[in-house]
Amino acid sequence: MPQQHPAPTPISSLTAKKRPAVRYAIRVLILFCALLVAAQGWSAWTARQSRLAENTAATSNMAAALAAQAESTIRIVDTVLAGVVERVEVDGITPAASDRLRSHMRNMVSEVKELNGLFVYGADGSWLVTSLDRPIAGNNADREYFQYHLHNRSRAVHIGKPIKSRSSGLWILPVSRRIDRPDGSFAGVALGTIQIAFFAELYESFDVGREGVVFLARDDGTLIYRRPFSEKLVGRDVSRGPVFQMVRSSGPMGTAMLRSQIDGVTRLYSYRRLDKLPLIVATAQSKHEILAEWQQSTLLLSAATLLVVLLLVGVGARLVRQIMIRDLLEAELRIAEEHLQERNQELTVLATNDGLTGIANRRHFEESLCLELKRARRTGAPLSLVLLDVDFFKKYNDRYGHVAGDDCLRQVAAALQACLARPTDLAARYGGEEFAMILPATGQVGARYVAERLRLAVMDLGIAHADNPLGTATISAGACTFHGAPGDNEDPETFVMRADALLYRAKANGRNRVCTDLDNTGAAPVPPLAM
Ligand code: GH3
Ligand code: MG
Ligand code: MG
Repeated sequence: MPQQHPAPTPISSLTAKKRPAVRYAIRVLILFCALLVAAQGWSAWTARQSRLAENTAATSNMAAALAAQAESTIRIVDTVLAGVVERVEVDGITPAASDRLRSHMRNMVSEVKELNGLFVYGADGSWLVTSLDRPIAGNNADREYFQYHLHNRSRAVHIGKPIKSRSSGLWILPVSRRIDRPDGSFAGVALGTIQIAFFAELYESFDVGREGVVFLARDDGTLIYRRPFSEKLVGRDVSRGPVFQMVRSSGPMGTAMLRSQIDGVTRLYSYRRLDKLPLIVATAQSKHEILAEWQQSTLLLSAATLLVVLLLVGVGARLVRQIMIRDLLEAELRIAEEHLQERNQELTVLATNDGLTGIANRRHFEESLCLELKRARRTGAPLSLVLLDVDFFKKYNDRYGHVAGDDCLRQVAAALQACLARPTDLAARYGGEEFAMILPATGQVGARYVAERLRLAVMDLGIAHADNPLGTATISAGACTFHGAPGDNEDPETFVMRADALLYRAKANGRNRVCTDLDNTGAAPVPPLAM
């Protein structure tokens, strides 16, 4: 069995599938770029978060260490102070006791590095005993810590506001205790001082970056020390600053990204309030410095991602363009194909039909005649052929002109075509003003009948023809029949010649008449059909 090839798919049926390809490609491209950007964004965001988390832990640990250090510093000074208070209260301030106390105090100051100086003031604020080399006559009743103890019976340690020392001119933090008489009345104040420089030395050793901050403050908001150090800031009230606002809202310890009230820099702050002392320490690193490295790597990665996205968009745009060009070419091809089909149909019509009258042309007629002769031979059915010629047509042309002659031919052709009743009958223009009818399965009588009908039909058109004796256009016809009998091997040319001879006879006999084979047999001529 011969192998059957599947019929090729027409281009038009593919169009529906091709069109969305452009949209599909664009969507995939956008999705891919979006995913890439999202992945990069997400990775940058998580890197940022982990960087901040690392720094949160580091600053929080630093704040805890600073708090412990501040507490131990104050405790050491307080322990010494407690000893001094105990001596004064027990031994009193006799000259002998004063000498012993002074040397004890001088020993303490030289041995305890945190301690800058020790002082004992009387109930009126006068300087009684000091750790200084030479005695100074003065009165400190105006100092904040003195007034505090004077009006406050608490025997607990008091951390004063930072002040400039009257003895040394340096910034100091006063740590003091109240001295009572045996009856509990106010007997004076014992004071230990810590140089602010002591904190400075320690705090400068921590690495908090160039814009970092470390500070120590009283819990009422009085700044004791702030790195970077500025004399103007010592003693400043920062209770309204962001760190203290957070202390009030979040409790004794915390970490947050805050904007400094002092210099406007945003930093990651960690603070701690000391457990038993009214102090707060905080440490902070600037957000800008924490994220500098992250920013740089993110910038690089973003640039790389942008490059990849641009490349993708570039390649995608080319791809989409190619698809669009292909679609365009296919559309053009489709239109060309449709044109070609139309042209082919036109050519088929032109090849088989007569240009003037629209009925079958000579070529079509000859093909059909061959075919029908073969069929007639095979089936044995008769086949008739009628040749027709317009009478005095040359004169018609001469009188009415060729345009009118063409119109006359068109009318005659239409009338002849309309006369043929069977779908197998064929009306053709044989040439000039001659026509031919192929009448399959039609015998001599039938042929004669049809030829007569054709003749009458043309007469009925009533086309005025002054040079025709009848005054109207007429035709003459010759009809012959092929009987398909055994040995009857008539070829198309002979068949046509037979019909032509009969037509010639019709002309010779006076025109506007039909001659058939029946006229040759000697049989009685069939009278013309009634008009
Ligand atoms: P007869 O009665 O013997 O057939 O005379 P006739 O004048 O019809 O015959 P003849 O063959 O001498 O003339 C045919 C004329 O038909 C010649 C030509 O002027 C005309 N003719 C042929 N083809 C066409 C055509 O396509 N258009 C027009 N207008 N005239 C045509
Ligand atoms: Mg002729
Ligand atoms: Mg003629």
